[in-house]
Amino acid sequence: MRQILLKNGFVVSMNKKEQVYTQGSILIENDRIKAVGDVEQSLIASDAEIVDVKGKIIMPGLINTHVHTSQQLGRGLGDDVNLLTWLHERIFPYESNLTEEDSYISTLLCCLEQIRAGVTSFAEPGGQFVSSMAKAVGEIGIRAKLAKSVMDCGEGLPARWQKTTREELEKQEEDLRKFHNTADGRVQVWFGLRTIFNNSDDLIIQTKELADKYGVGVHMHVAEVKEEVEFALETRGATIVKHLDNLGVLDKNFLAVHTVWLTDEEVDIFRDKQVKVSHNPAAAMRVLGFAKIPRMLKEGICVTLGTDGAPSSNRMDLIDEMWLTSLIHKGWRLDPTIMKAEEIIRMVTVNGAKAILEENSIGSIEVGKKADMIIINPDSPGMLPLHDNIANLVTSMHSSNVESTICDGKWIMRERKILTVDESAILNEAKKRAAAIYKRAGIQLPHRFPYI
Ligand SMILES: [Zn+2]
Repeated sequence: MRQILLKNGFVVSMNKKEQVYTQGSILIENDRIKAVGDVEQSLIASDAEIVDVKGKIIMPGLINTHVHTSQQLGRGLGDDVNLLTWLHERIFPYESNLTEEDSYISTLLCCLEQIRAGVTSFAEPGGQFVSSMAKAVGEIGIRAKLAKSVMDCGEGLPARWQKTTREELEKQEEDLRKFHNTADGRVQVWFGLRTIFNNSDDLIIQTKELADKYGVGVHMHVAEVKEEVEFALETRGATIVKHLDNLGVLDKNFLAVHTVWLTDEEVDIFRDKQVKVSHNPAAAMRVLGFAKIPRMLKEGICVTLGTDGAPSSNRMDLIDEMWLTSLIHKGWRLDPTIMKAEEIIRMVTVNGAKAILEENSIGSIEVGKKADMIIINPDSPGMLPLHDNIANLVTSMHSSNVESTICDGKWIMRERKILTVDESAILNEAKKRAAAIYKRAGIQLPHRFPYI
C-alpha cells in the first residue's frame, strides 16, 4: 500500500456541493482518494509520504476534451493561411508523412506540454496510429481516450488515406481490442469521425453502433466552419446537426467538437439528446466563429474545453484556453457578467469528466475517486495577490503556476520536473523528427522577413 498525504492546502474539490477547503488535507492511497478535509490520524499509515502544501491551491487534474497529439510536430505549419491552404498544402502533407515512431514522439511532446499546463486526462479525436499514441500515454502516466482519424470519402485526400468504410471500421475495432483499457485502464479507445466532409452516412451510423456495442464514445468535429454547414445542406439536404440527428447518432456518448455554426434549434437538439460539447476558443478564433456557449450553458448542455491541435491553435495549454473562454464571450456578447470563472472551472473538471464518460471516477477531489490532481503555487508576479482565489485560477493563473501533478495516485511532475520520461531527450528527438517530416512532406513555408 502506498499513501500520500497532502496537508494544509486550499482545496478546490469540485465535489457535488462545490466545496472549497481553505485548510484541507487529501489522503491518497494507491490510485484513489481515501479522505478529504480533516483526515483522521488513524487512516494515515506510518510510512505515508507527507507533503505540506500550505499556501498552495489543489484542484482536480484538468481535462482537455480535444487535442490532436499527432499534430504536435506540425506546430507553426498553419499560421496566417486560409482553411484550404491549411488543410491541403500543410496538414494533409504533414500528417500523411508521419511514421508510427514520429507519432509516438509527437504524442510524448504534446503530453509534456499538457502536463505542464495541469492536464491529467485528454480526448484525442484521431491520429494515424493508435498504437504509438497508446504507448506514449502509457509511459508518460496520464489518461487518454484515443481514436483513429477516420475518413472514407472526400476531396484532396492523400492516396494512403483512401480507405473504404469497412476498412476504417475494422481498423478501429482492431485498435480497440488491442489497446482499450491498457496501462492500468488509463488508456482507452474511442471511435473517431473526422468531419462530414470526409465521412459517409454509412460510416457515421455504423460508428455509433459500434461505440454503443463497446460502451465507449464517438468524437467528431461538428460545424467548425461555415462551409461545413453549406456542404451538409448541399449533399445531405439538411444542416449538419439536423442531419446527424436524422441519422440517429446524437446521444450521451457523442462528443461534438467546435460546434460554432449552430442554429438555436440545433442547440435545443443538443440539449434534448444530451450531446457533449468541446469548445476550443483559440481554434474557433482562427477560423472566425463564436460558438453559442453562453446559450448552451443556459440550456444545461455539458460544455467542456479543448486546445485542438498545434497547427490550429499553437498552444496546447488548457489554462490559456480557460482565460480565452472567459474573455471572448464577454466581448462578443458585450456583457462582462457572462462566462463566470466558476463556469469555466466546471468545464475543465466535472464537465470534462462527464463528456469523456468518466464522471464517476475523475473530475473532482472526492473520496473513492481516482487520485488525479494538480498543485498550484500562486507565488509569482503573474498570479498574486489572491483577492478572489477562484477567479484567479481563470483570469491570472499561468501554466507555470502548476507546480506538481498527480495522476492515478502517482507523481507525474514534481516541482516542475517531469518524473516519468526523459524530457530533454524527447525535445531533441522532436526537433530532429519535425525537420525530417517537413522535408519529406515537401512543405516550404515562405520567409516572413528576409533571411541573410
Ligand atoms: Zn480538431
